[in-house]
Amino acid sequence: MRRTKIIATLGPVSESPERLKEMMLAGVNIFRLNMSHAKHDWVRNLCTSIRAISKELNLHVGLLLDTQGPEIRTGDLPNKLNLKAGDKFTFTVRGAKREEEYSVDVNYNDMVDDIAVGDVILVDSGVIRMKVLEKEKNHLVCEVLTEGVMGSRRHINLPGVKVNLPALTEKDIADILLGIECGIDYVALSFVREANDIRTLRKLLAEKNASHIKAVAKIEDQQAVKNLDEIIAEADGVMVARGDLGIECPFEDLPIIQRRIVRTCIREKTAVIVATHMLESMIQNPIPTRAEITDVANAVFEQADCIMLSGETTVGAYPIESVQTLDRIAKRIEESGTSEHQGTIVLKSDREFVVRSAVDLADRANAAAICVFTRTGHFAEVTAALRPKKSLIYAFSEEEALCTRLTLNYGVRAFVLPFPQSPNETVVRAEKFLRDKGLLKSGDKVVFISDIRLDDELVSSVLLHDVR
Ligand code: PEP
Repeated sequence: MRRTKIIATLGPVSESPERLKEMMLAGVNIFRLNMSHAKHDWVRNLCTSIRAISKELNLHVGLLLDTQGPEIRTGDLPNKLNLKAGDKFTFTVRGAKREEEYSVDVNYNDMVDDIAVGDVILVDSGVIRMKVLEKEKNHLVCEVLTEGVMGSRRHINLPGVKVNLPALTEKDIADILLGIECGIDYVALSFVREANDIRTLRKLLAEKNASHIKAVAKIEDQQAVKNLDEIIAEADGVMVARGDLGIECPFEDLPIIQRRIVRTCIREKTAVIVATHMLESMIQNPIPTRAEITDVANAVFEQADCIMLSGETTVGAYPIESVQTLDRIAKRIEESGTSEHQGTIVLKSDREFVVRSAVDLADRANAAAICVFTRTGHFAEVTAALRPKKSLIYAFSEEEALCTRLTLNYGVRAFVLPFPQSPNETVVRAEKFLRDKGLLKSGDKVVFISDIRLDDELVSSVLLHDVR
């Protein structure tokens, strides 16, 4: 079983029921709905389809709704503009008209106030670079540094600028409400700048009785990197959103930031996703470049919980092959041995210390599996965060939705199993269940983590057992 989980973004090439099925069989653990491009009816249909197919295949597949976030964009231009280095270009706000040929309005009114003369503005994923020369009340006059074609509704990045936009836009709120209606498992919040942004999301989820939905913080600008520790401590998961991060930060810093995020997340027991451009060339080609293979391998060596595909599975010519490629690289690297993090992990309760001793025991005994009985998912998440060396993690819950929410966590495979009154019976049932599925065999060692009742108190316990 592969421990690193695979997330695939959905788009025109992956939306049909046949493709969804093929992708699940190829190893997708979570599907991502990117709300920058998705229409509500499309999301409704896909969520229904995914739930039906995963049920038919008897697989748990998570659904992650990724918000558009407070994006800054150019307004409408009647014609595209070919810009050359040295040209002057003006951004206007609040609909201020400019007589010059080269100008466009932007959707962020405070842009003129937030930005300083000398700052850099990037348009269209960093293709067009401009430097601010002058600013007036409603205008920013810039010099074009690198040529490109300016069009309508192009994404604008303001590297290093503290942007004064809400954590959740009206569109994000409407999209999250749709996600709740469709039974999604995770919300990924774009352009998180501080821990409070995650709290704002949690408050909305709580108001809608949806606190079970996990909050994933997308780290995509310098502000988020600055507040990384507090964001990681608050979120359930973190995404290294390398697309925007590589524009907002000097690109040579990206590997350093990725490594820091992955390590800090593992230390804090927060799930971590490495995203974007993992197999970019597979949008056109059936095999990856050597550099892409190595990039994916590095994320797996570092023991990220998830690796993610975007363009490869939304518009690419080889969506299934891309999933198979991630699966193949991840399995091979895991087999070869990955980093060790255990000593650095921060534990916060007695229950977490019990899990730690179970993982230590499993590592020393070379156990084939660690079985976790969990009502909230916490035991399973902590076991995953401790990254057992060899043992696979099988989580048992009475709740289907909880099993699906564990698709995010490293090395966890979850099953629904009713918990009988007696803990003995629970263990016996779980072991039989795994034997029947061919996941355990006679002679395997298994560590169980479970709560048992001593008088009126629930006590966490660890058990080591040889499968008969
Ligand atoms: C990214 O920037 O890497 C990312 C995942 O975000 P989006 O695709 O929403 O731009």
